[in-house]
Amino acid sequence: MKAALIREHGPAEKVEIATDLPVPEPGPGEVRLRVRAAALNYLDIWVRNGWPGIKLEYPHILGADAAGTIDALGPDVTDWDAGMRVAVDPILSCGECEFCRAGWENRCVRFRLLGEHVSGTFAEYITVPARNLIGLPDHVSFAEAAAASLVFVTAWHSLIARANLRPGETVLIIGAGGGVNTASLQIAKLTGCTVIVVGSSEDKLAKAQALGADAIIPRDVEGGWSRAVYQLTAKRGVDVVVDNVGAPTINDSLRALARGGRVVTVGNTGGPKVEIDNRLIFGKHLSILGSTMGTHRDYVRVMRLLFKGRLRAVIDAAYPLDEVRAAMARMEAGELFGKAVLEL
Ligand code: ZN
Repeated sequence: MKAALIREHGPAEKVEIATDLPVPEPGPGEVRLRVRAAALNYLDIWVRNGWPGIKLEYPHILGADAAGTIDALGPDVTDWDAGMRVAVDPILSCGECEFCRAGWENRCVRFRLLGEHVSGTFAEYITVPARNLIGLPDHVSFAEAAAASLVFVTAWHSLIARANLRPGETVLIIGAGGGVNTASLQIAKLTGCTVIVVGSSEDKLAKAQALGADAIIPRDVEGGWSRAVYQLTAKRGVDVVVDNVGAPTINDSLRALARGGRVVTVGNTGGPKVEIDNRLIFGKHLSILGSTMGTHRDYVRVMRLLFKGRLRAVIDAAYPLDEVRAAMARMEAGELFGKAVLEL
């Protein structure tokens, strides 16, 4: 079978298309999926580049998001049939640790993610636990389901489970185009919040406005965007900031918060090490809330909202598997608004 994989860490050129891989066999509790769509995430670039301590089994297939049809059932799988259309919750959890038992699969002590800790989804066939599946209604395309899975469960968990977002609150999102940000924008609007987006390009800000943003602020606005937020909110500040940039933005994000405000973060595209002015934290009663991915219950909840049309997968472009490097390059250059999808 065909798959996009790496044999060592490095730039986009390290990603190769293999055509002679064995088709995997589903183990107990697993199904084999014929992947029809997979979506790119920033995670794929981190994994490709590598970091100190990462240990992969090579060749390593990239990709966390997938949707497709069930191709074969492993032993003892009874709730599913071959041919069913499904999407995949990308988190693998042990089901036994204290966090799993409490329903926090994304805090599992043996937490693994498709495409990061184990082989991923950029392949014609993958095997996944049957309990990770959700059935797709006929009107939802494989591309939409794959594009939504990781970013929507991530945004839902950080805003709803961690930040306890409430109707009437004001949410500031740092960055207009990323997959998690376009998901966060929609989830905040669906909750009944006012949403402000800070972005780097006029084009992306216009698209964020079309997606429901109530106000947009150019990143390089005179006097700084944090000050612009302050003025826009009548010197009150916002209740929640979605900051997945990190080092270059976190202190402005803290300054933009109202008293009792919270920052949610699920990543750091701008660098991980930050220096924070602690006076802001205690003086304004602020919280910094981190999370990664979401629980399976979050996944089911957010995907059902997608199926009902209350949330929308934002797809920038679709590519054949052979063009994965081009898709990745556009993501790395910050050119995407929403997701790049691979169609297989
Ligand atoms: Zn566990």
